[in-house]
Amino acid sequence: MTDLNGSRTSTTPPSSLVDVAVVGAGPAGLAAAVAAADTGCRVTLLDTAARPGGQYWRWGPATASGQHRHGWAAFTRLKGRLDAHVLAGRIDYRPGHAVFALEGTGPFGVHALADERHRRRVEVRAGTVVVATGAYDRQLPFPGWTLPGVMTAGGAQSLLKGSGVTAGTRVVVAGTGPFLLPVAAGFLAAGAGVAAVVEANDPIAWLHHPSALAAGRTKLPEAAVYLAALARHRVPVLRRSAVVAAHGDRRLRSVSVARLNPDWSLAPGGARNVVADVLATGWGFLPQTELLGAAGAELAAGPGAAAVAAVDARQRTTRPGLLAAGETTGIGGADLAVAEGTVAGVTAAVAAGRRPDVRQRVAVALAVRRRTGLRRFAAAMHEVHAVAGGWVAWPDDDTVVCRCEEVTLAELRAAVDLGADDLRSVKLLSRTGMGWCQGRICESAAATLIGGGGPAYGPRPLAVPVPLRVLAELDDPHPAL
Ligand SMILES: Cc1cc2nc3c(=O)[nH]c(=O)nc-3n(C[C@H](O)[C@H](O)[C@H](O)COP(=O)(O)OP(=O)(O)OC[C@H]3O[C@@H](n4cnc5c(N)ncnc54)[C@H](O)[C@@H]3O)c2cc1C
Repeated sequence: MTDLNGSRTSTTPPSSLVDVAVVGAGPAGLAAAVAAADTGCRVTLLDTAARPGGQYWRWGPATASGQHRHGWAAFTRLKGRLDAHVLAGRIDYRPGHAVFALEGTGPFGVHALADERHRRRVEVRAGTVVVATGAYDRQLPFPGWTLPGVMTAGGAQSLLKGSGVTAGTRVVVAGTGPFLLPVAAGFLAAGAGVAAVVEANDPIAWLHHPSALAAGRTKLPEAAVYLAALARHRVPVLRRSAVVAAHGDRRLRSVSVARLNPDWSLAPGGARNVVADVLATGWGFLPQTELLGAAGAELAAGPGAAAVAAVDARQRTTRPGLLAAGETTGIGGADLAVAEGTVAGVTAAVAAGRRPDVRQRVAVALAVRRRTGLRRFAAAMHEVHAVAGGWVAWPDDDTVVCRCEEVTLAELRAAVDLGADDLRSVKLLSRTGMGWCQGRICESAAATLIGGGGPAYGPRPLAVPVPLRVLAELDDPHPAL
């Protein structure tokens, strides 16, 4: 078959039925796949990326040279188990496969696009599916945030870890949350200067959560390494402050840093100018739940009104046969993702009729214990590093909110003035959220800016962009399509 660009395309026929399909080979998906395979299950593990490890264990020149390798021993162990299962034929590992839809009621049809340019459609049929698709950066719009040189903290780190690229020489890292520290330390290790780390909340508030800190103590040595690097390079760490505007013509030249009140409204005293050619902003992460929502699993409001998969103690969603693990159930870090993945893998194995042996049952009991403590740590993290509402005063009328469709704040407000009283109506009137990213970048900010959560833009039936040809080829399209 030939597509519109004249290139050859092909469709791989559905696989024979496997016990478990796992979507995502990050910490959660790797743990789920090997835990299920340990019991003898036949598992297919699909991941968009070329290598296993997800966001935390991202492979690239920097990791190869020994940098950015926190928690690497855990990765090496999981990777060793993955390799052994692949060799034994228990796990069919498919890197470079982007899953765009789940179909059916069990067994499921797992539809993916394969190859670098997503030309080939692959269908995997599985009795149980574990969705471990991780998260993406939460973004807040402010004047100048679309200038070249301004990027998400996650994007900056992907460049650092994946390609060893710093994108500039003088960096400001701003936002809220512990993730700002590895990003700043990563820039320093790569030879860039870091002008400041700007944290909108006050991390002193961690002291009100001693039991959560104890539960997450494995993270403390890692944080200490980053803080020591910042201290060695005399990088100022500003608390209760934010970058409220970025300046430049064709690219970033400087940023305005302002002091904040606890609700993130601007404190008296004005802003000061800091020269920078890169600004990396991180306001936490949003779970990537499209596949789950489109397949009918119930999503609940997590911290900061982010949609998370509702799961029971065995990581089962409300949709029979569909499990979720890792950041899809709420942002909590790689260790929590591994614990949830382990539980999900064994739950899937039991659903496939396997009986875990004593060693596997002990592993699950330990994972459940770790999960309890780490969820406590995650809850405290969301409290200390919550996104407060005062940021809505930072953007002005001309600030672009939806980057894909270039919709400004004034245009969003005009839609509200015309009578749109929820986000979906605002979308229909203004085109916000209709572009390539399908609202992933602007949805949560737009909801706050129009005054209240309200219903979201609406479901995204396809998790990744899919050529029309591929949709037309589906014999039995998912009803949501
Ligand atoms: C950009 C970024 C950088 C981060 N860096 C750090 C860090 O340095 N330190 C830290 O403690 N935490 C970091 N985090 C948080 C980190 O994601 C988690 O703690 C941990 O990696 C979560 O594991 P996970 O398995 O749930 O998700 P992830 O590690 O995100 O893995 C999800 C996997 O699913 C795959 N995937 C997604 N959608 C599809 C699809 N449709 N089809 C097929 N595959 C798919 C992705 O390719 C990825 O490999 C980062 C998060 C992000 C988004």
